[in-house]
This record gives sequence, structure tokens and C-alpha cells, in this order.
Amino acid sequence: MQYYYPEPIAKLIDGFTKLPGIGPKTAQRLAFHVVQMDEQSVLEIAKALVHVKKDLHYCSICQNITDVDPCHICQSKTRDRSVICVVQEPKDVIAMERTREYNGLYHVLNGAISPVEGIGPEELKIKELLVRLEDENVKELILATNPNIEGEATAIYISRLVKPFGIKVTRIAHGLPVGGDLEYADEVTLTKALEGRREL
Ligand code: ZN
Repeated sequence: MQYYYPEPIAKLIDGFTKLPGIGPKTAQRLAFHVVQMDEQSVLEIAKALVHVKKDLHYCSICQNITDVDPCHICQSKTRDRSVICVVQEPKDVIAMERTREYNGLYHVLNGAISPVEGIGPEELKIKELLVRLEDENVKELILATNPNIEGEATAIYISRLVKPFGIKVTRIAHGLPVGGDLEYADEVTLTKALEGRREL
């Protein structure tokens, strides 16, 4: 199909189809839209794309993506440093922050245990979490991994691993749609799930 496009457009369509939720038709529509945009706007998007890859890295403490290290949350003087909320993805931090109910720190695993996809604990940022538990004065670890098989398996794995530290380990309550992602939960549901967390 792309044989019929001038090569620069074909390349752009090809690029857009690599993004989630964008099929060939949407990619084509976007590509032709870009052709019609003014040059300045296109350059700004192009720069933002490069910037996001070049200037973002993992926070050396919480493993969230950040442009400063440590990230703003880890650096904050007003956060409760005795609580760490463990989430799967950087976007889950955003979901938790939206609730405005949580004022502790985070730890981003950057994935979940999934035997089906061949993702084991060593692929996740669990070692980094254990280092924090040794060094920092943490009193509670909230496991806020997704309420699906992978998220549960990850929560159970971590809770067992953390037992010897003698830290209170809690799991956010259900009420979150099972099988869903944290990021899709609305603020009220997520706040309730946080309030109703139970000790493991
Ligand atoms: Zn951080």
C-alpha cells in the first residue's frame, strides 16, 4: 500500500504505525496532516520526540522516569519518607498523584512478573527497592501493582522478599476493576483502594 506514497510520507506513516492504538488509516491521516502543518509546529513536535528520548532517564532512587536525578518526588522535603508505594509503571505514579491523597514516596518496578512473556523478577527494579529498604527508614511498603495475574504475582513475590525487613507491607484494596490497569482507575476508586489497603 505504501508503495504509492512519496517516500518521506511512507516513512512517516511507518513511524506512526509503531505507536500504540494507531492503525494504518490513522497513521495515513496523521502523516497527511503533518504535511499541511506549518514548519515551526512540526519542528517542535520533532524536537519533543528527540528530547524525550535523550534527556529522560531513570531516577537513581525510585526508578521513575525523570529529567533530573533524583526526581522531584525523591528530592521533595514535604513528602512522607516513611512510606513507599510500589507501582509497575511511571504512568501509575501519575495516577496516584492525581488522587492527591498520597504523600509518600514511590518505587517504580518498570514491569510486572509475567512467566507468559518471560519477564522474571530480575527484569524488574526489585534489587533497587531492597537497597532502599536497607538504607532508608521505611515503615510501610504499599504494593499498588495492577489487580491482574501479573500484578498479584509481583505483589506476592515482593511481600515474601520483604518479610525479613520487618516492614509493614500492605496491598491496595480491590474495588479496582480486576484485570484493569491502575492508570485507568478514576481518582475516587483509586483513593478508596488506597484507604482500604490491607496488611499482607
Ligand atoms: Zn525518584
